[in-house]
Amino acid sequence: MSQRTQGQPMVIMGDDSQRVKDKDAQEYNISAAKAVGEAVKSTLGPKGMDKMLVTSMGDVTITNDGVTILTEMDIDNPTAEMIVEVAETQEDEAGDGTTTAVATAGELLKNAEDLIEQEIHPMAVIKGFTLASDHAREEVDDISEGVDPEDSELLQSVAETSMTGKGAELDKDVLADLVVRAIQGVTVDADDGSHVVDLANLNIETQTGRSAGESELLSGAAIDKDPVNDEMPETVEDADVLLLNEAIEVEETDVDTQVSIDSPDQLQQFLDQEEDQLREKVDSIAATGANAVFCQKGIDDLAQHYLAKEGILAVRRTKSSDVGFLQNVLEASVVDDIDSVTEADLGTGTISRDDEGELFYVEGEDAHGATLLIRGSTDHVVDELERGIQDAIDVVATTVSDGRVLAGGGAIEVEVARRLRDFADSVSGREQLAVEAFADSLELVPRVLAENAGLDSIDTLVDLRAAHEAGDTRAGLDVESGDVQDTFDAGVIETAQAKEQAIASAAEAANLVLKIDDIISAGDLSTEGDGDDGAGGMGGMGGMGGMGGAM
Ligand code: ADP
Ligand code: MG
Repeated sequence: MSQRTQGQPMVIMGDDSQRVKDKDAQEYNISAAKAVGEAVKSTLGPKGMDKMLVTSMGDVTITNDGVTILTEMDIDNPTAEMIVEVAETQEDEAGDGTTTAVATAGELLKNAEDLIEQEIHPMAVIKGFTLASDHAREEVDDISEGVDPEDSELLQSVAETSMTGKGAELDKDVLADLVVRAIQGVTVDADDGSHVVDLANLNIETQTGRSAGESELLSGAAIDKDPVNDEMPETVEDADVLLLNEAIEVEETDVDTQVSIDSPDQLQQFLDQEEDQLREKVDSIAATGANAVFCQKGIDDLAQHYLAKEGILAVRRTKSSDVGFLQNVLEASVVDDIDSVTEADLGTGTISRDDEGELFYVEGEDAHGATLLIRGSTDHVVDELERGIQDAIDVVATTVSDGRVLAGGGAIEVEVARRLRDFADSVSGREQLAVEAFADSLELVPRVLAENAGLDSIDTLVDLRAAHEAGDTRAGLDVESGDVQDTFDAGVIETAQAKEQAIASAAEAANLVLKIDDIISAGDLSTEGDGDDGAGGMGGMGGMGGMGGAM
């Protein structure tokens, strides 16, 4: 592709050059940002490809997730890093749309470059982009449609759309159903009629060795741990559970204190003291009536033995996030100091074991909280599934609380672009060209969706534009047939909030890059990479590891 070979920032970066100004600075930055956009484009949409990321340590991640790709790539170019921040903001604010945001930012800058070449001042471009971004978001809101949070079928489509192309794809109907039920289970209707999704009551746990289709939604928590001692019970019917954030170990004496032992008697005395201390700790726990302990820290062997004798189930080194979740599920307190523990700190519920004997299921008496147990054959599969499901959870949660959705598959972008071009007529001067360039940039999404599906992107865009001109607001791309379809009816449905955020963050990032006309670097801007490759290496997989060097 021509743009991959265009940017050659190294030409202007002599070995001793540490300052780049004006057009050169812009060109340098734009190339870097475009390159990042290029790097993620091929993953967009249901026909997007995955990337395999290999760290210098040899750890492998296989993913289709924009933000994961960018954060795990070893990027050491400041401009490219700014674009990565776009992806991170998008991920935090919307949970989806990261590839769209980053690729759109790259496209905006590519089009801005053309305008600057036509002697349009970057400030005019920035002004036009800002006008366009604000207007585009108003149009997104106008086009969006309302959702009934009880409409499980629609929510299921939203979940499936966000999972498309991800590892979750194969079992997406099962998984999307779990996600929708999970979100509905933690949604409460507020007094003002709004719907509040309390994600603190929803946990994700993963388990390898079984197929993704066997994933489940459980009431309560699932804790991937074993009892510390074989003599302990594995299930506790009427559990009084202590959550402990202190080790059940002998308190360490001051490092400076020397214990000098002169005789076997003294040694015995010393050991007895330690035993007494542990015995006391276990007695304090038993005195509260606790019959199960999830300890965030360690448990001494002898203490384990005493606990087992008392018939108490104990688990050590429980993850702090799990302890936090158990606190919700059981309505218990987390105790920092065994000496002060009382019965009131305990939570009540039931503890059982899964069939494999790997997980504890912990249910609170009042059925608080739920766990999505994601299963998959291997770690790589489960990791990518978890990313896809996490996105789906965020997206469905946003849909329920925000209540606005739209037709995907490029429909929204083509419609907004059409409306932006109308709006451009009302904008005077050179800013008008920037607004038009913004509209063109949004259409990157349908073009790339088509490209990634092996379709002709120009034909696709022509067809889509014609349908929208004819008033079909939901006309998007059917990636299987290449035809135009009502993507909303086809179940390709996205949230308005993620789309607004993607447009806003792409515009902000582009403007940020355009505003820079002077790069003063304390270090050497020209990294040791070979100059004639330019940003091109990043478009393909081969160049990813050496990304910093390629720029
Ligand atoms: P992002 O990180 O931007 O969410 P994705 O790889 O998830 O990137 O792709 C999202 C794009 O794919 C959206 O434009 C969405 O409408 C589109 N899309 C998702 N599923 C389909 C589908 N079945 N048919 C057509 N387009 C789809
Ligand atoms: Mg997505």
